[in-house]
Amino acid sequence: MKIVIIGAGPAGVIAAETVRTFDRRSEISMLTDEPYLPYSPPAMADHFINHSDNHLWRPTDWPMETGVNYLRGVRVAEIMPEPHRIRLASGEEMEYDRLLIATGARLYAPIAGAEMPGVYNFKSLSAAESIVDKVRAGQAHSALIVGAGFIGMEIALLLRELGVQVTQIEMLDQVMAAMLDPETAAIAVDLMRGHGVDVRLNTQAEAFIGNGVSNGVRLVSGEELTADLVIAATGVKPNLDLLNGSGISFNRGITVDNHLRTNAPDVFAAGDCIESANRVTGETNLHAIFPNAMEQGQVAGMNLAGFPVEYEGAKRMNSLKHLGLPIMAAGEKQGDTILRERHGTRLRTIYLRDKRIVGFQLVGDIQAAGVMHALMIQKTDISHLETHLLDPNFGEGMLAWSAINLYP
Ligand SMILES: Cc1cc2nc3c(=O)[nH]c(=O)nc-3n(C[C@H](O)[C@H](O)[C@H](O)COP(=O)(O)OP(=O)(O)OC[C@H]3O[C@@H](n4cnc5c(N)ncnc54)[C@H](O)[C@@H]3O)c2cc1C
Repeated sequence: MKIVIIGAGPAGVIAAETVRTFDRRSEISMLTDEPYLPYSPPAMADHFINHSDNHLWRPTDWPMETGVNYLRGVRVAEIMPEPHRIRLASGEEMEYDRLLIATGARLYAPIAGAEMPGVYNFKSLSAAESIVDKVRAGQAHSALIVGAGFIGMEIALLLRELGVQVTQIEMLDQVMAAMLDPETAAIAVDLMRGHGVDVRLNTQAEAFIGNGVSNGVRLVSGEELTADLVIAATGVKPNLDLLNGSGISFNRGITVDNHLRTNAPDVFAAGDCIESANRVTGETNLHAIFPNAMEQGQVAGMNLAGFPVEYEGAKRMNSLKHLGLPIMAAGEKQGDTILRERHGTRLRTIYLRDKRIVGFQLVGDIQAAGVMHALMIQKTDISHLETHLLDPNFGEGMLAWSAINLYP
C-alpha cells in the first residue's frame, strides 16, 4: 500500500511512526515544503539561545530508520481525491492509496500591510531563522512585536535573550487572552516586563507601515511605532490552500469524523489543520497545540494502518516556559465555582462546574497539573476533594496515578 503524508510536524511524524509499528511493508512518503528534518516549534527558542539541536526531536537518521521516503522542500499544490493523486508545486504527480493531510497552520495577520516585505513571523523554523540571522548580523537592535499570544511571548523573550530591545503591543487588556485568566495574565505580564519587554496593552495596530519594506506600525490611535525588526504574532490559521478544487470539506479547519477521516475516500487529516471537538466541552474548534497534534497523529496512523480507532477529542492546555516562573493553564477560565489561592507569586485557580474541574491555572508551582488534568478530562466528581484542591501539597504522592491517568 502507498501511504502519503503531507507535512512533517508532530502530527505527520507520529502518524508515520504509528503506521510503522503495525505495518513494515507499506510504502510511506512524507512531504514537507520546509528544508529541514522534523523539528519541534516549541523548542525553536532553546535552539537559538543555546545553539542546541534539541529542536530536532527525532534523530537525523529518522527517515531511514522509520523507512520513510522523506521529501523536503516539496510543496503539495493540489489533492485529487478521485484518481487518488496529489500534484506538487513542480507539476509532478504522486499517487496514494491512503493520504494524511497534516499541513499545520501559518500566521494569520488581518492587518493592512501584513504581506509587506519586512513583516516577520515566528511560525516556522525558516521564518525564525530569518529573524535571528538579522539580529546576529547586527541589523536589528530593536523589535516591535504585534500580538501577545503565546507565540508572541516566545519570540519576545528570545529576542531579549539575544540582546534586542523589544516593544510588544497587544490590542486586548491582557496577554495570552485565549489561555490565561486576567489574574494569571497579570503575573505573566509583570514577568515579561521584568525581562525587559516593553509590553503595551490596549494598543491596537491598524497597519504595517514602511517604504516598500515595513519598519513599523501605525496604531489605531494614529501614533506610529518603528523598529529595526517588525514581527506579526497575531494568530494562526490552518494551511488549506492545497484543498482548493478537491471537494474536501473545511470550515476554519478541515472537518473530520471521529476516525479523523475527511469527506474524501481514503483521505485523513490531523494536527493544527483540522477542527476537532474539545474532549471536555464537546465544542468544535481549532485546537492548535503540540499534544493534540501528537495524539491526532497517533489516531490517524492507526486508521491509515487499517485499525478503526476513534479520536476522543482535543485538550486545551498550554504552558509558558521561559518566564523564570512556570505557568500552566488548561481547560476553561470560567465556571460556576472558582477556587483561588495566592501566596506571593504562587497562584492556583481552579474552575469548577457541577462539581467537576473544567479548567485550572497554575503559577509558580505546577506539580499538581497532572492530577488536575486527569480529573478534568475524566470529568471526575470532585465533591470529596474540593477542600483539598487548593492545598499546596495536593498532587504530591499522586504523580504515579496521574502518569497512568493523564492520557487514559
Ligand atoms: C514558536 C512556537 C511555540 C509553540 N509552543 C508551543 C507550546 O509551548 N506548547 C504547545 O502545545 N504547542 C506549541 N506550539 C504549537 C505547536 O508547535 C503546534 O501545535 C504543532 O507543531 C502542530 O503540529 P502539526 O503537525 O499539526 O503542524 P506543523 O508542526 O505546523 O507542521 C506542518 C508541516 O506541514 C508543512 N506544510 C504545510 N503545507 C504544506 C504543503 N502544501 N506541502 C508540503 N508541506 C506543507 C509545513 O511547512 C510544516 O512543516 C508552538 C508553535 C510555535 C510556532
